[in-house]
Amino acid sequence: MRKKVLITGIGGQDGYFLSKLLLLRGDTIHGLIRRDSPNGIGSIKHLNTGDQAKLTFHEGDTKSKDFIDELIRFSQFDEIYHLAAQSSVARSIQHPRETIENNVLGITNIATAIRDKSPTTKLLFAGSSEMFGSIVEGKQNERTPPHPQSPYGLTKELGFHLISSYRNHYGLWGATAILFNHESEFRGNQFVTSKIIRSVVRIANGDDVVLSLGNIYVKRDWGYAEDYMKGVIQIMDQPIPDDYVIATGKLHSVKDFVNTAFSQVGISLQWTGNDLDEIAQNKENGKIVVKIDENLYRPGDIKGTCGDPSKAKENLKWEPKTSLSKIIEKMIVHYLKK
Ligand code: NDP
Repeated sequence: MRKKVLITGIGGQDGYFLSKLLLLRGDTIHGLIRRDSPNGIGSIKHLNTGDQAKLTFHEGDTKSKDFIDELIRFSQFDEIYHLAAQSSVARSIQHPRETIENNVLGITNIATAIRDKSPTTKLLFAGSSEMFGSIVEGKQNERTPPHPQSPYGLTKELGFHLISSYRNHYGLWGATAILFNHESEFRGNQFVTSKIIRSVVRIANGDDVVLSLGNIYVKRDWGYAEDYMKGVIQIMDQPIPDDYVIATGKLHSVKDFVNTAFSQVGISLQWTGNDLDEIAQNKENGKIVVKIDENLYRPGDIKGTCGDPSKAKENLKWEPKTSLSKIIEKMIVHYLKK
């Protein structure tokens, strides 16, 4: 059946892939965009014009209770994917109040509007592995107790509990996708993976650029955004709402990411030095191409997070398909074309 769907945060990385996938299915897509967004319609501009024309945009902010109440009451959506968030951990450390206000009011307004004004609407909340904090040991699954280390992680923990509480107390069809890091050619410029790729491409093109990084030994479980949005749709398609970890279960360090990206543009690196003095030189010409900047270390940075997607594999038959090396290749090709 053709569904009427609202995507908040449609202009972000995930909004692009989710819209593309739901349009393929024939759904009617409504997207929420902030009137004052510096990014305009954001990643959606990469959809072909025919697909863009099929979208209905609503200008508004998830922080506004009146706006959200009216939109949800009037439209009676079949499904809402709540992706909108201040999504940068680093920014949340610099601007905790803005992040908490934005993310907490957003999920609270949407879940409450569904409860009170459109109770048959299904809700998918984009949760985050940041709610777990650092790995103590092993992998993190749906039963791992949250232990967030940033204001961003705190907001995602709150959303996760709010969904589960509305599900239990009011019968809301609500599910949290506990998303581990995922990247793509449309990753926002403020994120480290996008910064690495942009520098690598400039260096490959002969620019005199040095890539400055913080702690290159932190490890992440990185997947591809399109794979993850397929998982999110599969969660929404279940008859009974439940929470799922969406992850690859594989860990790589930022240093691994850097080495792979440089090697894909034909540059081999020579690493020397330790801690803040560590550098990487282009083996061919001796130029320093990577250095460490103390100011880019984040207080309370999570050393590693690795997800256990067994439940999604078993119940949804979902599997991540794209390797980290392939993701890096897609990002490089995108920036080379730019
Ligand atoms: P992006 O930062 O690329 O996109 C977020 C979008 O939300 C932006 O378009 C932004 O618009 C919009 N937005 C933010 N606040 C509001 C608001 N108050 N009202 C309306 N729109 C708003 O994030 P991603 O696409 O990468 O991520 C999607 C979701 O998944 C987010 O909730 C994120 O926290 C979560 N997630 C992402 C992970 C990842 O690795 N990508 C990992 C784990 C969770 P504007 O342009 O106006 O700022």
